[in-house]
This record gives sequence, C-alpha cells and structure tokens, in this order.
Amino acid sequence: MKEKVYCANCEHCIVVRVFEPDNIKYVLRVKCNKKRWAKRSGEEKQYKYFTVARRVHTDCPDFSQMGDPNPFIKNLRRELPVKDEIYTLKDSE
Ligand code: SF4
Repeated sequence: MKEKVYCANCEHCIVVRVFEPDNIKYVLRVKCNKKRWAKRSGEEKQYKYFTVARRVHTDCPDFSQMGDPNPFIKNLRRELPVKDEIYTLKDSE
C-alpha cells in the first residue's frame, strides 16, 4: 500500500522568507529542498506557509521523517496562521 507522507514532517521541507521590493516586508513560503515540488513547466514551486500541513507526497523516495506525525501534524494545523501574513524585519529582529 502506498504511504501518504506529510511534507511538513520531512527534513527537506523548509521555510523561506520572500521579500517584497522594499526589502523590509516579507512573506513566508515553504519549499522542498529536493525540488520535488514543481510546476508543469518544471519550475520549482513554493507554497504559502499557512498551507504547509496540506502538503503531502505519496511514497516520496527522499522523505526523511523528523518525528512521529501524531500529534505533530494536528498541533501544526492548530498553530499555523489561518492566512498569508506579511511580516517586517522589525517584527522578527
Ligand atoms: S523530499 Fe519528499 S516528503 Fe520531503 S518535502 Fe520533499 S516532496 Fe515532501
């Protein structure tokens, strides 16, 4: 049986900051370090951070589990922002 894995529980799923043109405001995006998220064009795809718990991959050969998915995914869903948020460098540094 094919096993569905949560990318959020994989060490290759990382959060990156994507800056606005002012270089002060930024949004959070998630990407797969193994480049397994791709658009039809082949270009690398990034997703909004608040959607990370929805990212699943079936039988990913690069999956590297970080821990027990329960209760991690449940807690993650509860703690993620509910929408895309804009941060500023002053908020975090
Ligand atoms: S390596 Fe596979 S399981 Fe890990 S983040 Fe990328 S697509 Fe998801």
